[in-house]
Amino acid sequence: MAEKSFKYVIVGGGVAAGYAAREFAKQGLKPGELAIISKEAVAPYERPALSKAYLFPESPARLPGFHVCVGSGGERLLPDWYKEKGIELILRTEIVKADLAAKILISAAGETFKYQILIIATGSSVIRLTDFGVQGADAKNIFYLREIDDADKLVEAFKAKKNGKAVIVGGGYIGLELGAVLQMNNFDVSMVYPEPWCMPRLFTSDIAAFYEGYYKNKGIKIIKGTVAVGFTSDSNGEVKEVKLKDGRVLEADIVVVGVGGRPLTTLFKGQVEEEKGGIKTDASFKTSVTGVYAVGDVATFPLKLYNELRRVEHVDHARKSAEQAVKAIKASEEGKTVEEYDYLPFFYSRSFDLSWQFYGDNVGDTVLFGDNNPASPKPKFGTYWIKDGKVIGAFLEGGTPEENKAIAKVAKAQPPVENPDLLIKEGLSFAAKI
Ligand code: FAD
Repeated sequence: MAEKSFKYVIVGGGVAAGYAAREFAKQGLKPGELAIISKEAVAPYERPALSKAYLFPESPARLPGFHVCVGSGGERLLPDWYKEKGIELILRTEIVKADLAAKILISAAGETFKYQILIIATGSSVIRLTDFGVQGADAKNIFYLREIDDADKLVEAFKAKKNGKAVIVGGGYIGLELGAVLQMNNFDVSMVYPEPWCMPRLFTSDIAAFYEGYYKNKGIKIIKGTVAVGFTSDSNGEVKEVKLKDGRVLEADIVVVGVGGRPLTTLFKGQVEEEKGGIKTDASFKTSVTGVYAVGDVATFPLKLYNELRRVEHVDHARKSAEQAVKAIKASEEGKTVEEYDYLPFFYSRSFDLSWQFYGDNVGDTVLFGDNNPASPKPKFGTYWIKDGKVIGAFLEGGTPEENKAIAKVAKAQPPVENPDLLIKEGLSFAAKI
């Protein structure tokens, strides 16, 4: 079987891989030194587009439009860019075995890839209802969304089940974004989740009340406090009904499940130190194995600002961790070091005409400011999180780029708060002063 050897190999061809490739090229790379091995069939792209513009009924986004690095305002790296730089893009190739001691990767087709330096950028996989043995969960037209192939299957189903009924299982990012695009595609949408409000890992009940109200005004039905426990299908094996734990039954032509992800670390189990479900790294994304780095969703890294190890499943960190790892690799070749990774957590989402950003940490007490009436023509509101008398997190719906920058600054600077009540009145002007 074929054997190939590279100085640098990135396993995984997603967001982090693309931004790492750009950084390698910036730092200086000889042709043939770098390979990206990906099980996907396309060059690295901005994954968040899959649950947003990719599924729009009008002028949907399509490749090559959203290859990295357009998501952060950078150059779009088309497949030819990799060719020009002498970077080998090895697509449709799943690595099924990794031997970190021997510095070897083996693909499903039996090819062997040798490396000197490895960057693990395998991202996450979705949690499936079949993983928990939910009855009937293998029916046709029950969808998950992680890769472009999944999004293409959804687009096909949108056409096949025009004006049908859709049930969304899960009230996180994917659930909220998919609920919106399905409604925009003229589906009759119901959302089901067990928690008392949507996005409970980040949203306060006040923030969630706005989005739930807004979705209801769009005609989306929200069913909380219960879960899908089974599915019935027709004679073609296509899903027809979703059975809920509380006894209710929902008709469904399409079901989209968004109940979370798991970092893809299995290939490396027992070979590298793990922590908090991810691969443990230092502030340069170096793992416990010499010459092996881990970036993006799989990395559990020291978050300097909060003095603790964290894993972050968001695109901004995927980009920045990849750049940091490549800078560290290149610096170490010259006997130099790089500055510690000093990351400010940043999450965002968009659906309908809405757009929010969050920076910092969401622990402690909260204050809500602004207009969070879902029926307002131009709602704009935010929340500050206060811990030990300091603002440590900030959320803003409907902010301008300058306003979003201001809340980022607040979360980083962590200014003291004397009077939380005043903060409610001051709202955004408090952030603008920092
Ligand atoms: P990924 O981008 O997932 O890339 C991993 C790559 O590795 C994939 O190409 C995969 O096929 C490949 N791979 C895995 N295992 C193997 C193997 N064994 N062999 C070969 N290849 C392999 N974050 C936000 O901050 N905001 C958003 O709005 C947002 N929206 C999102 C919408 C969707 C639909 C999804 C799925 C995620 C979204 N995210 C969002 C999260 C964000 O996209 C991820 O955090 C980011 O993509 C992580 O980058 P990564 O490079 O670590 O992993």
